[in-house]
Amino acid sequence: MTTTASTSWVASANRHADFSLANLPLGVFSRDGLSPRGGVAIGDCILDLQVACEAGLFQGEALDAARAAGGDSLNAFFALGAPARRALRAALQALLGEGSAQRAQAEALGERLLQPMGACRLHLPARVGDYTDFYVGIHHATNVGKLFRPDNPLLPNYKYVPIGYHGRASTIGVSGESVRRPNGQTLPPGASEPSFGLSRRLDYELELGIWIGPGNTRGEPIGIAEAGEHLAGLCLLNDWSARDLQAWEYQPLGPFLSKSFATTVSPWVVMPEALEPFRCAQPARPQADPQPLPYLFDVHDQQRGAFDLELEVLLQTEAMRAKGLPAERITLSSTRHMYWTVAQLVAHHSVNGCALQPGDLFGSGTLSGETPESCGSLLEITRGGKQPLTLPGGETRTFLEDGDEVILRARGVREGGPSVGFGECRGRVVG
Ligand code: CA
Repeated sequence: MTTTASTSWVASANRHADFSLANLPLGVFSRDGLSPRGGVAIGDCILDLQVACEAGLFQGEALDAARAAGGDSLNAFFALGAPARRALRAALQALLGEGSAQRAQAEALGERLLQPMGACRLHLPARVGDYTDFYVGIHHATNVGKLFRPDNPLLPNYKYVPIGYHGRASTIGVSGESVRRPNGQTLPPGASEPSFGLSRRLDYELELGIWIGPGNTRGEPIGIAEAGEHLAGLCLLNDWSARDLQAWEYQPLGPFLSKSFATTVSPWVVMPEALEPFRCAQPARPQADPQPLPYLFDVHDQQRGAFDLELEVLLQTEAMRAKGLPAERITLSSTRHMYWTVAQLVAHHSVNGCALQPGDLFGSGTLSGETPESCGSLLEITRGGKQPLTLPGGETRTFLEDGDEVILRARGVREGGPSVGFGECRGRVVG
């Protein structure tokens, strides 16, 4: 392999589909005998930021940033904002790059510095103060709206307001967790009174997770032009949804217990700088659509504020596992299906004076495309449970069964350059 700016002396990083030197996402990990601490994914390893700091591998602003990121949550690091993050990223690329002056010193630290990822446990990367789930996947909003209002799927506010609801921070978990099927009220078809019991229409939602950086003081909105600087990083997010509970409870105030039982995120926070090659213009709105109101409109944001990332959903059932069948990809979608940019979400969320804090988490909303193969939920794939999905081995699904494992993936891919992946967001349903 020829040496390029993206070549690392950590051999497993070169050609790694997710964690090459071009990525360097941050997370929190632990290992037997090691308490939870901040680390950086590089190839098959995790760089221990505490060990790197103690060994004198960082200086100046990068050292301050590495110390903040080395604790048991990334909140303090997120609070430092974009300049500190860029300083740390530059220092990490210098440290881990092929021509690094510190290579011998770093290699001498061995596994203390570069832990094998497979031996480590990954944790939630930050303490989430507040979690807001948006609804910016316009094809998802249209598909779901059609199930209820075939002639008028989108409500009149959709193209003016980035719609969202306040989710539950306490039940956010990290990839690899089990998700217990929730109990609740449902109104069975044809019944006039609800019954109580386990949800029979359990679903997932394919979403982008958005980690918030410095945030704002209450009463002082973040303007659209500066809103992008408040993005600390991205992850994957599965907004587990009990459709039967949701159908009965959602009017008039939106989702509540149908969503608050579980949300799963991927453990790595992918920095905006790593995603710079996958920035793109916000897709043009159809001619008939209104332009965003001025507080949501910024020329640079429209030109560069969107992301072009591949999104996947894979499903593996208990029976597939028993037969040795791999997880089956059931969806291929893209972050280009967002009707609003991340900066627009930040500006809108704070425009009324609401305070955003470091470690707040946004969900984008389900990111479905226009075709059945690109739908980000079973509700859409099966048309509300009417058209079962057939899986390898002959099983069918309308909604999730116990033992089903849902795997979300995201990756930026480009010709002639390294891909940047998010790793996985996994969760298995248990009864
Ligand atoms: Ca959602």
